[in-house]
Amino acid sequence: MVVHPDHHHKLIDGRVISARVLDEVTESINDIKKNGIIPALAVVLVGDDPASAVYVRNKKLMCDKVGINSLEYKLESTTTETELLELIDRLNKDDDVNGILVQFPLPEHINKQTIINFINPNKDVDGLHPINAGKLMNGIESLVPCTPQGSHIMLKSTVDDLSGMNAVVIGRSNLVGKPMCQLLTNSNCTVTQVHSKTRNIESYTKNADILIAAIGIPKFVNADWVREGSIVIDVGINRITYERDGETKTKLVGDVDFNGVIEKVAYITPVPGGVGLMTVACLMNNTLKATKFQMEL
Ligand code: NAD
Repeated sequence: MVVHPDHHHKLIDGRVISARVLDEVTESINDIKKNGIIPALAVVLVGDDPASAVYVRNKKLMCDKVGINSLEYKLESTTTETELLELIDRLNKDDDVNGILVQFPLPEHINKQTIINFINPNKDVDGLHPINAGKLMNGIESLVPCTPQGSHIMLKSTVDDLSGMNAVVIGRSNLVGKPMCQLLTNSNCTVTQVHSKTRNIESYTKNADILIAAIGIPKFVNADWVREGSIVIDVGINRITYERDGETKTKLVGDVDFNGVIEKVAYITPVPGGVGLMTVACLMNNTLKATKFQMEL
């Protein structure tokens, strides 16, 4: 991604903001280490999805960096649902494990929701357990899904007060779209959620002061869809292939047509270097938070 020098001030830089979150987390971990407490995150990977392997590796590297003990459980793709539940049961009961993350997608024979429901909500660092989703909806302190949490931090770092702003969220997944709407509502935004069945999406996005794109389709949001002077958070991570010098290459792009949209908006997050970095930082934050809660700190 090349950003024209005139547009640099428009970037919401995931590197800078995630570094700040990670500094705070590291400092707090160093503090509780004085009491002999070292947070531990168990990451469970079932099967050999290459993208998942990369995500798990990045999470482990970040744990090492901030001082979280990371425990990896790599299971065969033939692992049964019962076997996975047995492992989670052990991790739920193990006082030396503070956070449990099961990497998705899971093989088809395993029911994702059954797994989510079985994780101890106090160790649910992905914030997907219905108890945590319910707490977020009720405005009760909880473990909030990392990607919307990170996007929300980026917004708060960019504008002082989100009160009264028109926010439009494209997407309604339990992982991103729904909790994002909740966080924005809790920050006093007026929230509109649009999705795959919405008619005439641009009639909504054109009025957005804040636009969150969490769809999973490259360049879904173009310049005609966004309001002059608005803020765009691009959650999408899509790997696309392109041709250069007769070679087929791949790169990561968001859900927003970045080069077109940056001309019009006040602020935008880049991909890569945006929300993705915040997600990992917030996972560290959630692991710390879970540890403190369990230790009654
Ligand atoms: P998902 O597939 O579960 O949900 C996509 C949502 O987009 C759905 O709710 C659907 O209603 C909506 N949608 C699909 N097609 C649409 C259309 N034509 N018009 C309008 N809405 C449409 O995906 P997700 O887990 O919410 O992730 C969304 C994107 O964010 C993906 O690109 C994913 O890779 C990315 N993601 C990034 C991070 C990160 O760390 N940055 C984390 C999670 C997901």
